[in-house]
Amino acid sequence: MSQLNYASATEEQLASINNSLAKGDTIDVIKWAYETFSDDLIYSCSFGAEAMVLLDMISDVKKDAKVTFLDTNLHFAETYSLIEQVRARYPELRLTIKQPDITLSQQADLYGEELWLRQPDLCCHIRKVQPMESVLTGTVAWMSGLRREQSATRANVAFINRDEKFQSLKICPLIHWKSEEVWQYIRTFELPYNSLHNQSYPSIGCAPCTRPVKAGEDSRAGRWAQVGKTECGLHLAK
Ligand code: SF4
Repeated sequence: MSQLNYASATEEQLASINNSLAKGDTIDVIKWAYETFSDDLIYSCSFGAEAMVLLDMISDVKKDAKVTFLDTNLHFAETYSLIEQVRARYPELRLTIKQPDITLSQQADLYGEELWLRQPDLCCHIRKVQPMESVLTGTVAWMSGLRREQSATRANVAFINRDEKFQSLKICPLIHWKSEEVWQYIRTFELPYNSLHNQSYPSIGCAPCTRPVKAGEDSRAGRWAQVGKTECGLHLAK
């Protein structure tokens, strides 16, 4: 196990590492992460546009990296199709699909139909946060494609962060990337991507909680628009 972990890392140590990583390129952050954590690092992949960039860079550094997708059972057909395209393009990646402990039918029996309309925080807890806790238990570090410009709550994310929620270290190699840079990379390397991005869906989550954005709206305005929620809970401190 890596010497660097949630329990041992000091704020000074993380600040020093972040300063050092800021002098390099994104690929250097990814190389550092896999050299430091190796198989103690899991990439939690959303299969959004940023994920296509990260998967491509990760596969250059560690072809058999551990990648997990949280399948809430409520994703768009286009998202499931993209996962198969990624499997074909990067066959050595160790991609696991993590599902909630209870099925949608069991959830409906326990809490009623369409829980996401009435108690979206509970729905996200059951279908995203709890499965993530199960994936990350005992894992030293996890990787995310968060970018600072995505929202005010992400403006201060660093390359390496103490993750209080999962008592882990969270690595975010793309914090400084702009949306145009993500798409430039996708076009340059002809990467697969979710076809819904071509239909005014800049950010894609579960189908019931995602709508296309209108001209001039924020890129995440289509997420949980019906209930006024902004984050699923994976990236909140507690
Ligand atoms: Fe449920 Fe919506 Fe959260 Fe998906 S995004 S887990 S449907 S509340």
